[in-house]
Amino acid sequence: MAEQKKNVAKSPAEEAPAKKTAKAAPAKKTVRRAAEKKEPAVKTVVTEEAAAVGEALVTPVVKPIAPVMPEPRRSVAFIGSECYPFVKTGGLGDVMYALPKALTKQNCDVKVILPRYRCIPEKWQDKMVYRGEFMMDLCADGHKYYVGIMEYVWDGVVYDFIDNEEFFNWGTPYTNLVDDIPKFCFFAKAALAALNYMNWVPDIIHCHDWQAALVPVFQQAMFGGTPVASAKTVLTIHNLRFQGIYNTETVKYWTNLPDALFDYAVLQQDWVNANMLKAGLSYASMITTVSNTYAGEIQTPFFGENLDAHLRYHNHKLRGIVNGIDVDLWNAETDALLAANYNAQNVLTEKRKNKKALQEQLGLEVDDGKFVIGLISRLTNQKGLDLINAIMPQLIDGNTQVVVLGTGDPRYEASFRYFEQTYKGSVCANIMYDEGRAHGIYAGADALLVPSLFEPCGLTQLIAMRYGTVPIVRETGGLKDTVQPYNQFTDEGNGFTFDRYEAGLLLDAINRAKTLYFEDRARWDEMVLRDMDKDVSWDNSAAQYRALYISLKP
Ligand code: ADP
Repeated sequence: MAEQKKNVAKSPAEEAPAKKTAKAAPAKKTVRRAAEKKEPAVKTVVTEEAAAVGEALVTPVVKPIAPVMPEPRRSVAFIGSECYPFVKTGGLGDVMYALPKALTKQNCDVKVILPRYRCIPEKWQDKMVYRGEFMMDLCADGHKYYVGIMEYVWDGVVYDFIDNEEFFNWGTPYTNLVDDIPKFCFFAKAALAALNYMNWVPDIIHCHDWQAALVPVFQQAMFGGTPVASAKTVLTIHNLRFQGIYNTETVKYWTNLPDALFDYAVLQQDWVNANMLKAGLSYASMITTVSNTYAGEIQTPFFGENLDAHLRYHNHKLRGIVNGIDVDLWNAETDALLAANYNAQNVLTEKRKNKKALQEQLGLEVDDGKFVIGLISRLTNQKGLDLINAIMPQLIDGNTQVVVLGTGDPRYEASFRYFEQTYKGSVCANIMYDEGRAHGIYAGADALLVPSLFEPCGLTQLIAMRYGTVPIVRETGGLKDTVQPYNQFTDEGNGFTFDRYEAGLLLDAINRAKTLYFEDRARWDEMVLRDMDKDVSWDNSAAQYRALYISLKP
């Protein structure tokens, strides 16, 4: 135990004068309540004054009183590598923003711990307030690192940014594993040490993906006997493909974890490599992933990314909880980035204004009669882009336009640029990351394509439905759990789906969508309304996370 304690970061008061070995950032000394149900139960009471006037009053004066919060209150520290609007590269960033916000409305006290990347826009950096600093042991050779804490409180959530310029001074959050492995070994330990330093010990530490997966491991191996040891840990898998695998000697050096943990049950992956996610799965009190279907899929060899056996072994503590979206952020009625705002009442007349604006902006033929298909995605082989490439010539039939937004694998960037050249006016390839354009496509397209090979949850289909854009998806992971296939006999469903990963089946699903769009617009429009009406908010899933936290800390 003495050995373990040695590794715990001490406050500056306990520590020798802190030498800033890492080029520490000059620490700038700049210096609701909701019910367990879906909607906040805002009770209203008729005031006494109003009652006294009695029947004579036509409109009683109504005073809202605070909605009732579910009890008990629980405190949660979220630890992850990205969070909208500070830094976002994909769905993890959305979840790290929206879930804490939703949890605060369900009586949770939430702190989000993030790296203070240099690429966080100045606008946010300026709002951060210096919270403290200390030196922390990290490496096997005893090398210590500076840990600064910068804080920003916003919308009921406390954001604490771990500051160290040596690790976080790049223009992007992720670079390559050579840099990212040390960066996230440091981050995971610094986050725990920061909780002790701030004397804020949560009931639950909720870690996200491989970048925070060492948190439960450090907690149990090195923070025993310190306040933070009492917290229960939840590790959420947002995408099992990324695991933080690197050669064992390097991971040993950067973590200084005991040799005993470099075992096949914990960190060891194969003869040469350690696997950070695998270790986190072993040590977390509970594992979650972002949909029920994906929770089952990852226990099979096809989706298991070589961890299926490990996950089967730990499946007694594995749950699937589907993601939601922030319905205030994604709201066609108030979205400032749209050409025309709309809601379920006027969608059929107003949405087309966004379609026109999109066609004009992107140099597509401006024609309301065309069927516009959007694709907003990282361009990787996860996303089913090979299927789209295979059918593009059949897709562009004179009545259809395709708008792609994404960056990633150069071969997909090149193929979409090629299609743009070949089908001028019908295909537009936006090879970029652009929030504004994404909003324009969600609102302006008729349908959104998500034909993924695998999809842990997927957010784009949820956003599309919220904007009255019909999803066309493959039945895998969260896509299967969130898009009910259209049934032409009962006139139910939210989108068009296909099962096996085959180009012909994707084409068939798109053709079924086109048939309804061109031949039975009334039924298409009913589906648009059903989609806008579907509950894709976080309310339900946040309640499930809350229940999980309470089951761990009754
Ligand atoms: P993943 O996390 O695998 O990338 P998700 O569907 O879970 O996929 O989340 C993708 C998120 O990133 C969505 O909010 C989507 O709008 C956004 N997004 C993806 N690509 C782009 C892009 N090129 N420009 C703007 N937003 C994008």
